[in-house]
Amino acid sequence: MRRSHYFLPTLKETPAEAEVVSHQLMLRAGMVRQASAGIYSWLPMGYTVLKKIEQIVREEQNEAGAQEVLMPTIQSADLWKQSGRYDDYGKEMLRIEDRHGREMLYGPTNEELITEIFRTSVRSYRDLPRMLYHIQWKFRDEVRPRFGVMRGREFLMKDNYSFDVDFDGAKAAYNKMFVAYLRTFARMGMKAIPMEAESGPIGGDMSHEFIVLADTGESEVFCDREFLDYDVLGSGVDYEDAGRVQDVVDHFTTLYARTDDKHDAAEFEGQVPEARRYHGRGIEVGHIFYFGTKYSEPLGAKVTTQDGGEMAVHMGSYGIGVSRMPAAIIEASHDEKGIIWPEAVAPFHVGLINLRAGDADCDAACEDAYAKLCGARVDTLYDDREERPGVKFAETDLIGLPWQLIVGPRGLKAGTVELKCRATGETEEVSLDSALARLTA
Ligand code: ATP
Ligand code: MG
Repeated sequence: MRRSHYFLPTLKETPAEAEVVSHQLMLRAGMVRQASAGIYSWLPMGYTVLKKIEQIVREEQNEAGAQEVLMPTIQSADLWKQSGRYDDYGKEMLRIEDRHGREMLYGPTNEELITEIFRTSVRSYRDLPRMLYHIQWKFRDEVRPRFGVMRGREFLMKDNYSFDVDFDGAKAAYNKMFVAYLRTFARMGMKAIPMEAESGPIGGDMSHEFIVLADTGESEVFCDREFLDYDVLGSGVDYEDAGRVQDVVDHFTTLYARTDDKHDAAEFEGQVPEARRYHGRGIEVGHIFYFGTKYSEPLGAKVTTQDGGEMAVHMGSYGIGVSRMPAAIIEASHDEKGIIWPEAVAPFHVGLINLRAGDADCDAACEDAYAKLCGARVDTLYDDREERPGVKFAETDLIGLPWQLIVGPRGLKAGTVELKCRATGETEEVSLDSALARLTA
């Protein structure tokens, strides 16, 4: 992408309404614009990041055996009356009346609807287990939408639902999601710690929140810092091997990690040596629950059993805050100059900076580099504008692309360009060919 063509409305000043650094940087880097309280438009660079995050989530869901569907954002109130949540959900639910006076709502979550789909499609225990997920916008009329997309009213969530014949089956599904979540966040370059949690208004018995440690987080958490050294992606996982999956879950649940409602000071102090105790804030990026027959009973999602009987299916639900993720990543990965994108979610891999656009040599070298990078399918943002170098450096640092390839007249005379790593700040002077070889490797 040529910077001169790219819609990237960056801001010089930090907007006064943004309290936390991720919100400030997302606005300054032209990723999102507020449409109304807690509701955002995603601009090209923000949307690219969102789609990369969504794709990692999708791949790991599929890998774990879940199948993607797409349910609507607008739902009928009827099912919610059957489950009893139409009244329970209160003011967080956006209620709408259609032209025929029918009560509708903008879905805050999808347990009811997926249970209804299951009820009308599956009859026998032989058709289980199943995991169905979608990645769809939700609406919750939060009392205090804040911190930009971190706590929006409209937000993108991945929600998966598992259906099993009994608790053991449901536990196996829960374990798969537990491991899939570890992998999902690690692939995004994040350390998300699974913490024992209350299951909240959705209700349930077994529940973990996946939390990214950050001072600006809204959850109060207690955990063993040793988690931060755990290697998640080191070994692959065979989801068919329930014993192995259980081992991974066991490994990640032996260390103390709990949100405040589950915290027990005596156990914490007993189990975790003082130097390793973390008591601070965290951002909830995912949440997994087992809730048994809470929805299948009232909504009549039953299957026939092996002995000819009938039973309500055991369910779990598994959410990831997809649109919260860019903010959580920025909270965990930035410096005073701007964002530092982990490679896997970066909007572009390389920022190619032409220090003297209009100079024949610089233009020729940059055009050549740009063509080669594009040819090798390396996502490149080519700053071809006639702007001062300082402006280009500041913007490229702000938007946080992993690599900067800096081409200037002085270097070219000596046969070199600069290759800068955004994360470490290290700069190397190398020939253009060797820089390209590195970036396209
Ligand atoms: P929270 O405690 O942050 O209000 P929740 O427990 O109500 O979240 P869940 O129902 O577990 O949320 O939703 C699954 C995931 O969706 C959460 O882990 C979180 O990452 C994300 N999420 C929830 N509410 C919001 C929101 N208002 N804006 C952005 N993401 C959200
Ligand atoms: Mg939650």
